[in-house]
Amino acid sequence: MKIFTLLRVSGRRRGAWLHDGVRRLVTSASALKVCVVGGGPAGFYTAQGLIKARQDMEVDIYERLPVPFGLVRFGVAPDHPEVKNVISTFTQTAQHTRCSFYGSVNVGQDVTVEELQHAYHAVVLSYGAEGNRRMGVPGEDLAGVYSAKDFVGWYNGLPANSQLSPNLDSDTAVILGHGNVALDVARLLLSPVDILKKTDITQNALDALAESRVRRVLLVGRRGPIQVACSVKELREMVNLPGTRPEMVTAEFEGVAEALKEVPRPRKRLTELMLKTALETPGEKEQERRRKATRVWCLRFFRSPLAVLPSPDDPNRVASIRLAVNRLEGSGEGARAVPTGEVEDVNCGLIITSIGYKSLPIDSSVPFDPRKAIVPNSMGRVQQAAGLYCSGWLKTGPTGVIATTMNNSFDTARTLLEDIDSGTLDVSAAKSGSQGIGALFEKRGVKPVTFSDWEKIDKEETKRGQAKGKPREKLLDVEEMLRVART
Ligand code: FAD
Ligand code: NAP
Repeated sequence: MKIFTLLRVSGRRRGAWLHDGVRRLVTSASALKVCVVGGGPAGFYTAQGLIKARQDMEVDIYERLPVPFGLVRFGVAPDHPEVKNVISTFTQTAQHTRCSFYGSVNVGQDVTVEELQHAYHAVVLSYGAEGNRRMGVPGEDLAGVYSAKDFVGWYNGLPANSQLSPNLDSDTAVILGHGNVALDVARLLLSPVDILKKTDITQNALDALAESRVRRVLLVGRRGPIQVACSVKELREMVNLPGTRPEMVTAEFEGVAEALKEVPRPRKRLTELMLKTALETPGEKEQERRRKATRVWCLRFFRSPLAVLPSPDDPNRVASIRLAVNRLEGSGEGARAVPTGEVEDVNCGLIITSIGYKSLPIDSSVPFDPRKAIVPNSMGRVQQAAGLYCSGWLKTGPTGVIATTMNNSFDTARTLLEDIDSGTLDVSAAKSGSQGIGALFEKRGVKPVTFSDWEKIDKEETKRGQAKGKPREKLLDVEEMLRVART
């Protein structure tokens, strides 16, 4: 019945996006209809968990951008292509007969969450964390200060950041934060362009990095070596980065070796690598490599941002950062940074704040905890909102690698399935799903991008990349993406 309807609809060229629905073979008025908001890892893993569990389940994924995969496309560093292999699993999910992808749909603007709830038995919010934490210090908005979110978006071709054009004319860059994003940014700033040009980094970022005058990158953290948030693999990449040498402040490692016995296993390996890098004299070969290095990086500890200070020549530009010197209260991972009263100014023409992402509310009808910046939930059930669920960074806050996001998304799928089984989620009435929403879109002139439309964009990007010896050259402009998708 639905197959017929969809064929008829697409035959009339009414909303070509419905055409993708033709692939659906098992679909009926009695199907369980769930939609997922956000086409990142959480969205795809939630959809996967649901369609695998029940043969009568149909899942539609609504994504704001015309392209899928969220931070796998726009966050993961271009020199980490192996991480992007998850895209093949997401593609299998999107091509499943009971799953559809609708890109270029901004939920909260093109359609409300309440409208989705009306059309589906359940709605899963998986729209990630698109904001960033701010330092909350004077001078934060001066020219030359960027959030890691924007900087990463720039080199990864996120349309909103593609014109960022960061000023890389300064010798010294300060990155605030000791997480993996901070290390990604430091590595990208210091990597030889010959390495980067074989990745899917955007051409404009590659050109800017080729001209960059940044020679020194300080990664500044508010706590000590035992509290860093990065992982050992990312630190090792930094240590081995061609053309660079580490320059640590040995005094900042006082007492760390002694504290190692108390430290859990993965952190122990990480700390040992830091200690070795900071304190040990390397072998001849490594010494030679370090002597030849033209670029320097350094992890600085026990320092919090107090103010970004302007240049005397240009009051709108950053010239230095004032840092409060801290000591630690307590021990281990939970130790707290407490200011000593001492301050230190560091000259730098570029500051990148990498102190975490942050989810934002997209629809006033959805409960949102502004303090934790998450949708308040219990095991993925949005509190006080029947039929509404959440997964991914929106559920947990902006931490966790893709595998963590996968597990928390499968958990949400399980919660939803349990609610169906227990009768907590009312699925007795038939729902209109994408057909109902399609009718709304038609009235509003919203034209979603299907997964096969995305495949045209993918093909075009791969073609442009091949011409340059890169895996892809990303399209940077939403209008251009839509043009390619609709040819
Ligand atoms: P996201 O990936 O952000 O996906 C959310 C999706 O929702 C996006 O596609 C967005 O466009 C969409 N959306 C937003 N608003 C709306 C709306 N209103 N309507 C519709 N759709 C909307 N993990 C690793 O394992 N390895 C790595 O190397 C790695 N590198 C990373 C690098 C960076 C810079 C960052 C920030 C994270 C990295 N991670 C990495 C972590 C990983 O990216 C996350 O665990 C994962 O992406 C979180 O998935 P998510 O779906 O919750 O959010
Ligand atoms: P993160 O791991 O939470 O690190 C945030 C850093 O910012 C911490 O060092 C934190 O210090 C610091 N910070 C927070 N608030 C601060 C403040 N007000 N002032 C000063 N410093 C502050 O976040 P992230 O680096 O954005 O990474 C997000 C997630 O993505 C992580 O789970 C990460 O592992 C993952 N990721 C993985 C990869 C990879 O696998 N290669 C790459 C990138 C990202 P405190 O510890 O003192 O709070």
